[in-house]
Amino acid sequence: MADLIDDANEHAEHLLLQALAQHQRRAGGQATSAEWCESCGVEIPQARRAAVPGCQRCIDCQQLRELKRG
Ligand SMILES: [Zn+2]
Repeated sequence: MADLIDDANEHAEHLLLQALAQHQRRAGGQATSAEWCESCGVEIPQARRAAVPGCQRCIDCQQLRELKRG
């Protein structure tokens, strides 16, 4: 019985990891960080683009946007 549960858990974990990997691959395809801020056109530092996959704005514009959003 314990073996059965272990197998089931292992299988579930495998499926979960697979789903996560797929999601990351899909997100990676879409979430390309912009090289230039779409709001002010300033160059987005590589560090920020790496830290925030899919970011489209520089830190200033992103903060302004979040402030406005409340
Ligand atoms: Zn900007």
